[in-house]
Amino acid sequence: MDRKIIHIDMDAFYASVEQRDFSELRGKPVGVGGLSGRGVLTTASYEARKFGVRSAMPTWMAKQKCPELIVVRPRFGVYKEVSDQIREIFREYTHLIEPLSLDEAYLDVTENFKNMPFATDIAREVKLKIFEKTGLTASAGVSFNKFLAKIASDFNKPDGLFVITPKKAPLIIDSLPIERFHGIGKVTAEKMRQSGVHTGADLKQKSLEWLTTHFGKAGKYYFGVAHGEDNRPVDASSIRKSVSAEDTFDKDTADFEEQETQLLILAEKVWEWVEKKQIFGRTVTLKVKFHDFSIMNRSKSSPAYIKDYDSFKGLALELFKQSFDSSRPVRLLGIGLSNLNNTTPPDFGQMQLEFEGG
Ligand SMILES: [Mg+2]
Repeated sequence: MDRKIIHIDMDAFYASVEQRDFSELRGKPVGVGGLSGRGVLTTASYEARKFGVRSAMPTWMAKQKCPELIVVRPRFGVYKEVSDQIREIFREYTHLIEPLSLDEAYLDVTENFKNMPFATDIAREVKLKIFEKTGLTASAGVSFNKFLAKIASDFNKPDGLFVITPKKAPLIIDSLPIERFHGIGKVTAEKMRQSGVHTGADLKQKSLEWLTTHFGKAGKYYFGVAHGEDNRPVDASSIRKSVSAEDTFDKDTADFEEQETQLLILAEKVWEWVEKKQIFGRTVTLKVKFHDFSIMNRSKSSPAYIKDYDSFKGLALELFKQSFDSSRPVRLLGIGLSNLNNTTPPDFGQMQLEFEGG
């Protein structure tokens, strides 16, 4: 085992913070997200998940599944504070920290500040400190690469700790449904299933050549992870030029509301990244792929950095309304943000420094 990677993932993060701060929500099914007719949930408490409520689900649908669901608005400021607290704990052990969102991060503890030989001990300590400091539980996955560490953190949720050793890895990978592979989205999974690839064991049967022919560059990654190999470093300094989210509809649609709902889900995803990183952008881009696979991109720039979700959402909706065409069914929608302030001199130094230091 040449590397020691820990993946930390807070349990039902936003919902847990709300239950922590408001005792009347404890033990109840809680959804965090939009309250309006077309709002979507960003997180659901475990009590709500029992009813089939999931994140990214429209609020109305969640209420149908669970009529007792209490929906509260997200308080990103509070989540960011908790996120900073847990990152401070990570920094006691390593500077190789790669956050994936406010509540998730990879840690490379091969070398660590406390010279602890076992990553599992570190994971246990980190979980305990997170609980002591924030009153919240996290799940930890420990393994020898990022791919397996992330798989592991999902195994015993909530409050889990799971280790995938090189010896255990092949069996676990073999039995993994293809959708559970990090980096294989809905569309790719469907494509794989059509080629008879349903599990890790099936994936392992495919040659590197077959995978790269069908999935391009990603094919190489799929080949690697099927064999338990993932050499991606824990990247503590990912500087990005843009951030975007896109998703393919299950079925092409020309329906305005359906598209708008999807767009808002994507906008929230992008904004979650913005909030987490405290990196702001000026240009919003809408991407529309139509049923005939033709692609249209439309952008709008703001003279100043967009600092609040409503402004971002406003620009996205403006672009969407301008380009909506009820005669052309849509296959995929995407929303992106560019002209980020992480490469140009910051206009609000404090936050920028905080980011670069973290
Ligand atoms: Mg989480």
